[in-house]
Amino acid sequence: MYAANVHAAKLVYQVRAGEAWAEKTRPLPRGGLHPMLLKEPRHHLRVGAALLGMWQDQHPGIDQAFAGSVPHRSAVAHFGWGDVVHGTGGEDRALTARRRLIERYLDQRPAPHPTPLGIAVVSPLEGTPRVAPSGPGEDRDQGARAHRGLDIDATTGEPVRSLADGVVWFAGFDLPGRVRPQPVPPEELAHTPRPPLGAGGLFVCVRHTEGIFSCYMHLSSYRVHINDRVKAGDCLGAVGRSGVKSSGSHLHLEIHVKGDAVDPAPILGPELVIPPQDTVAHDLAMQSKKMRLKHERRARWRAHLAARKDAAARRE
Ligand SMILES: [Zn+2]
Repeated sequence: MYAANVHAAKLVYQVRAGEAWAEKTRPLPRGGLHPMLLKEPRHHLRVGAALLGMWQDQHPGIDQAFAGSVPHRSAVAHFGWGDVVHGTGGEDRALTARRRLIERYLDQRPAPHPTPLGIAVVSPLEGTPRVAPSGPGEDRDQGARAHRGLDIDATTGEPVRSLADGVVWFAGFDLPGRVRPQPVPPEELAHTPRPPLGAGGLFVCVRHTEGIFSCYMHLSSYRVHINDRVKAGDCLGAVGRSGVKSSGSHLHLEIHVKGDAVDPAPILGPELVIPPQDTVAHDLAMQSKKMRLKHERRARWRAHLAARKDAAARRE
């Protein structure tokens, strides 16, 4: 298919440059796409790398050409999911699984990095950067309450790790309403009757320094006791969807500073998390919140006009 693009040990191809096209080249080993040579693994890999490079160069142009599609994160995704996609969820999950695998093979856990909070943090999940499709301030329960944390897409059973050094401050069940959460030691999790859970489900909170806490919610299980000392990166429990009403499994992460929930995304930074602002899910959530606020403003205005009309009628 690409034989006509090979000239003098070069792969020659076109990329979109605004309205025009520009020619680009990549070195290709001699013999290029000859079927016999392609059976030789070393040659095959070099040719594969050249083709991948070409597709990566061409994919912004391809994304642009398909209106109504969300930009793919990488060129290869055009093969897996087609040229028109309405979200990057599938691609993100495949990339996360790949990063986790590479981290396992390399056996290298990233070192804690400093934050403006004065504590050094690591990612609570493996295979960074992880995608967080939902952040603080979005609507929950049709606008009855605001979302307070960062939702990081994850698979049930994945290890959840402490962001930083600290002491376990809570491990147990979130209960509905304004009821105090119920602490449960991990070894009793299996045989403690499960009450109807609040939105947080099973959760763990760690106190890092005076006034700084991190909380990990919707867990399927946890392994720590209240007052346990933990280091950055220690496993606290496993991802689940306890307390979740409709979405898939994810980690709901909250960071509290002196009693206020703050946005975890800028604290973790772009190396650890792809923030909600870079996802389609967040765009859609913010659009629907805007619509709800608009409807509420209109309803308030209509009620105000009706009350004035009533008062005027009573005066007559
Ligand atoms: Zn959440």
